Amino acid sequence: MVHTSHSFWQKVVAVTQSALDEGALQPISTQLKIVPDRGIPFAVRIVDSLNRKEIAQKKRQNQPKDKPFNPFLPYEEALFVEDLSSSHVCLLNKYNVVDHHLLIVTREYQSQDSWLSYSDFEALVRCLWVADGLGFYNGGYEAGASQHHKHLQLIPLNSPDGTEALPISSMIRDQKNHWETHQRLPSLPFWHSLYELSLQWNESHLNAISDRLLRTYRQIMADLGMNLQGESPDAPYNLLITRDWMMGIRRSQASYQGIGVNSLGYGGWLLVKTAADLEKLKHIGPMNLLQQVGCPPPASAR
Ligand code: AMP
Repeated sequence: MVHTSHSFWQKVVAVTQSALDEGALQPISTQLKIVPDRGIPFAVRIVDSLNRKEIAQKKRQNQPKDKPFNPFLPYEEALFVEDLSSSHVCLLNKYNVVDHHLLIVTREYQSQDSWLSYSDFEALVRCLWVADGLGFYNGGYEAGASQHHKHLQLIPLNSPDGTEALPISSMIRDQKNHWETHQRLPSLPFWHSLYELSLQWNESHLNAISDRLLRTYRQIMADLGMNLQGESPDAPYNLLITRDWMMGIRRSQASYQGIGVNSLGYGGWLLVKTAADLEKLKHIGPMNLLQQVGCPPPASAR
């Protein structure tokens, strides 16, 4: 399916408006506070207190009691943006914290715990090509996934009304000489692996780009100690993908002292439920939080 970036973006904006009008899209309003830690200006969002109860209630209403609920099969028509391929659709995230948060969802059921495949990257690349931004995958419950049906995600960053730059991006830029050869940022105290992609983003190269992303992902999984021959990844992980680089992080737990972290946390975006949690987070320290929910790097990477 070929679409120009302009028409895709118009669709995202139009579907956002109609889904808001219908009440299908239920954005979570937050306040933004910057908490700098070891060179990264962490952007911490605090859920508005008025919003909190309402969201919890609505989320509960959505959950049938008898079987595990799957919000993507069927998905809500009002949130549908585009067919990406024969295997994937693009939807709006129903409870978005930032604008135009996209979900890239398999049409048929696949588990969030399974390996990412060529078709997953192909669908992501189709979105990343038309909406430059941060793609990510929360690989497992302990990595912050709340839904068990396979979904990648994309937050546009450089679009006309995109979100602010990713807090970690200046560190990635400044320490490039090091990670280009060592595949890690020396200042990050947890097990991770980072690769430059050096891709030519051109419409005629999208299949080659998808293939390159798949190969880089497999390399990152191996670097994080996963057995590539296994039926599924043997540990939870986060994956961050931009047009220029891909980073994987091995995870140990979903949260620390009640503060949850997903892939966005490793890009420098954290979310807390209350002002008291913000104080707790400041006390713990954002980088220490990421370390606590991550894993220590292996001796060879220290
Ligand atoms: P994750 O929490 O990383 O697994 O991402 C799943 C996302 O799906 C969450 O951010 C939810 O806000 C979003 N979500 C939950 N229910 C729906 C729904 N019915 N339609 C679209 N998105 C949903």
